[in-house]
Amino acid sequence: IAMSHAVRSPASTFAIHELSMNDRRAVDAALAEALEGAQQRDELTVLYQPIVDLASGRVVAAEALLRWRHPLHGAISPSAFIPVAERSGEIVGIGRWVLEQAIQQVAAWREAGADLTVTVNVSPRQLQEPHLAREVLGALERAGVPARNLIVEVTESAMVEEAVEVAALRRLRSAGVRIAIDDFGTGYSSLQYLTRLPVDVLKIDRGFVARLDGTGEGAAIAEAVIRLAQILRLTTVAEGIETDVQAAELLALGSERGQGYLYSRPVPPEEVAALVERQRDLAA
Ligand code: C2E
Ligand code: MG
Ligand code: MG
Ligand code: MG
Repeated sequence: IAMSHAVRSPASTFAIHELSMNDRRAVDAALAEALEGAQQRDELTVLYQPIVDLASGRVVAAEALLRWRHPLHGAISPSAFIPVAERSGEIVGIGRWVLEQAIQQVAAWREAGADLTVTVNVSPRQLQEPHLAREVLGALERAGVPARNLIVEVTESAMVEEAVEVAALRRLRSAGVRIAIDDFGTGYSSLQYLTRLPVDVLKIDRGFVARLDGTGEGAAIAEAVIRLAQILRLTTVAEGIETDVQAAELLALGSERGQGYLYSRPVPPEEVAALVERQRDLAA
């Protein structure tokens, strides 16, 4: 433990990265245990962050983002508990539930007249499940949702470092589900895999969007990803857009879609519907 930190920071803001290896294991184990059955106890919810067409500002899709509210400790960030759930295997059941929720939600939006696409984060551990593709296609069928209304997101680092089981992705894709590579540009990968893997969408990592300041100076990586996508005929979605300047620069560079606090934070599904409704009223 870094003493200087421990002294300066109040106990409540004690950061996990300041813990020793043993403490970290203990936190991991405690989190894993607390997470067991969290879904059955109604501690999990799914929020949705709108994804807009950058040129028109219209909402075209929404990303499902998991939230966990522990009865004593309150909201726990996905970046803290998702890795734990991956290691414990708990992500398989939770991920199945998120997919089911998202698919039912897209059916509800469509019934309300909003033909949105939903995009869902899927961990490598889920792709190892032999029945994943069959389950997802079954859920779409039961909900009456076309496969084109679902995008599955897998992080670039998962694709590369864990050599994910691509069979499930191929099956989903041949049924019409689209595949996105999340956090693209952070995986230190060779680009060769892009031509081998079933991919439709590249999500430009928030870190590269944050560098866009309107001067063009920080634009190298974002521009390279967008060009690459254009050559490979993939769609790009820019993550973490917070300013008008970033949105304008991304649009000028040729990115089609984006998401970020500039447009909306992750919100309950009714708020996505309300946003679509307001845009429809404005257009009418
Ligand atoms: P991600 O898939 O890259 O999701 C984008 C993250 O960026 C979300 O964090 C979102 O709330 C945040 N974000 C969006 N716009 C902005 C912005 O303008 N500024 C800033 N600073 N942040 C923004 P969140 O919800 O905390 O999720 C973190 C990560 O946890 C996700 O990153 C994803 O990798 C993982 N995750 C979330 N839900 C699920 C899930 O259901 N299953 C799996 N396997 N992973 C999930
Ligand atoms: Mg994502
Ligand atoms: Mg991302
Ligand atoms: Mg991420």
